[in-house]
Amino acid sequence: MTDILDSTDPLGPYQVIHIARHRPHLRAILVVDNVACGPAIGGTRMAPDVSLAECRRLARAMTLKNAAAGLPHGGAKSVIVADPHMPHREKEETIRAFAGAIARVEDYIAGPDMGTDETAMAWCRDEIGRAVGLPRELGGIPLDEIGATGFGVAIAARVAQEFCGLTLEGARVAVQGFGAVGRHAARFLAERGAVLVGASDSHGTLVDPDGIDIQDLIAHKAAGGPVSDYSGGRALDRDAIVDVPCDIWIPAARPDVLREDNAGRLDCRMVLQGANIPATPEAEAILHERGILCVPDFIANAGGVICASVEYHGGTEAVAFSAIEEKLRRNTREVLELARDEGILPRAAAERLARARVERAMALRRWA
Ligand code: NAD
Repeated sequence: MTDILDSTDPLGPYQVIHIARHRPHLRAILVVDNVACGPAIGGTRMAPDVSLAECRRLARAMTLKNAAAGLPHGGAKSVIVADPHMPHREKEETIRAFAGAIARVEDYIAGPDMGTDETAMAWCRDEIGRAVGLPRELGGIPLDEIGATGFGVAIAARVAQEFCGLTLEGARVAVQGFGAVGRHAARFLAERGAVLVGASDSHGTLVDPDGIDIQDLIAHKAAGGPVSDYSGGRALDRDAIVDVPCDIWIPAARPDVLREDNAGRLDCRMVLQGANIPATPEAEAILHERGILCVPDFIANAGGVICASVEYHGGTEAVAFSAIEEKLRRNTREVLELARDEGILPRAAAERLARARVERAMALRRWA
């Protein structure tokens, strides 16, 4: 990723806003990367260690993701530097203050991300009249509850299997980050016969080569237990998930979890990127050299934003699922065919296709 002020980057960022308030305490950043395709949709992440660099990269990923999915939306991201587990009242005050601070950035529509959820988006909507990923009561399609992104990840896997000689029936899956994306991806892949052999969260890793009961593990997590406390399987430390032998390895947690120093440890055929920017460019190059197929984040995990866009334009849950299926199927194939035919990395193919769409949209706009 280029420097934030790099004037040679034709796509953006369009606006970068630092927010600092004292009462209530609020430290946040909003990067609106590009609005050529329409008002930008991008999640609001709350974590103690988020940074401008992370926000900027995630905003670009949203520009490419929304363009790749053919949505009438540009890309943006916002981060709030805070502990997402703070007391509920304090969190409500923080989110409402954040919404107030972005009220006038009308070409940004916030959505849920790590550390925020549909309740947080309801507070945003209440303050400024716009947000996506709303609760059902407000006409929303609760994308994490229905597993919109995980569903899309599984559709991408169905297409990608033929590009690396895999069959989902019996494929072993390991998921890093058994949260909203990870657990639903595992669930939808299991419907196609895949078997979950490893799962991790921020506390530890659970491994069982004979297969983990996904619904039971979901219930265990919902009751507040870390995956490593689950009764079946073997508990290991958090980063041991990287070494779990499997066919499909799914990062579904934080950025840059695959790097030059650990990409050589993966023992799989496909990396299906549920998380945003989970691998550094060096790691993706290593995986490519090792013959491991990498389905890039902004192709594989577009289900959530497709669902958010359907919600924003008044569509139903059924419309959202069929839009995710159609778009993920087509985009994954287009990207993997281009990568194969030209011998380039899937990310390079995906970026080429998405950038071309953004540039065509930019050419149709009158820019100051
Ligand atoms: P989540 O908070 O529901 O789940 C994240 C999970 O990762 C949690 O179980 C957490 O314990 C775990 N985790 C955190 N740090 C970890 C670490 N270092 N090692 C292992 N596990 C760790 O979040 P989510 O909504 O599932 O999002 C996960 C990723 O997917 C993020 O990168 C997010 O930006 C991306 N994403 C989410 C959506 C969506 O629809 N929710 C859509 C597109 C992309």
